[in-house]
Amino acid sequence: MIDRRGRHLPLDAHLHTTLSPDSNVPIDAFAEQAVELGIDEIAITDHVDFDPTAPAYRYTSFAERERVVRDAAERWAERGVAIRLGAEITWDGAWEADIRDYLRDHAYDFLIGSVHVYVRSPYDPPNVPAWVAGKTLPEIVGPYFAEVVAAARSELFDAIGHIDVIKRYLLPYVTTADLAAAPELYEPMLRALIDTGTALEINTGGLRHEARETYPSPAIVARYRELGGRAVTIGSDAHRADTFAWALADGYSAASAAGIDSLTFRRGGDRVLVPFATGPNAVAGHSL
Ligand SMILES: [Zn+2]
Ligand SMILES: [Zn+2]
Repeated sequence: MIDRRGRHLPLDAHLHTTLSPDSNVPIDAFAEQAVELGIDEIAITDHVDFDPTAPAYRYTSFAERERVVRDAAERWAERGVAIRLGAEITWDGAWEADIRDYLRDHAYDFLIGSVHVYVRSPYDPPNVPAWVAGKTLPEIVGPYFAEVVAAARSELFDAIGHIDVIKRYLLPYVTTADLAAAPELYEPMLRALIDTGTALEINTGGLRHEARETYPSPAIVARYRELGGRAVTIGSDAHRADTFAWALADGYSAASAAGIDSLTFRRGGDRVLVPFATGPNAVAGHSL
């Protein structure tokens, strides 16, 4: 397999460690690669779920997340890697009150809100054939995209993760080409992000999945910018050590091609801009 890990980039804002039920990566395995590859900053965004049937429900405690991530941040700071305490909260309108209460009492540096596909979802692979039968494309993607809109409109999150991850599960019934031909279906999501100042995540996990493109595609990132959007984050969504920063440069390229030159991030407190070009290891000097 070609090594597509990003190099000399300022930030990977989406990573899962052993504090997520679907990752087996100790935090130090990410930090070590960040040093080796020249990724200056990483956000640990383990899953936080509120549905009692969801895999990450009460998987670990906030105190444990804070201890593990802050301890690692202290260990790795002197080696030039900044480690932030993030979370990827599973958004579901049904749990909004619980999520809101939780976030009032728990201070993370950076928050991603994502809509996930679990066993009861129509987008869970075994349910897809029945779900797509006899439906139009807007009907097929509608419920997922509507939840993404609601997640952005909640204004609870710094960024919304992988806004069209369902393209991974809808194959081969709905192809990336089908979605590319209907960009208008994305506009309510893009407008909700822009209206609320929530960042669009460019998730490069799609480049190692069958979709073979980022979530969302570079064309949608460009459309977001045309509509007035500027705030983006970029993350590899690695759940394995060997996919750390995977295809991250493609995410930066998509943002750059859209005319965006910094990430909108948070390290606790107010939002900060993280320029793509950061000194001697400027992105522009590498693969953009
Ligand atoms: Zn996710
Ligand atoms: Zn994730």
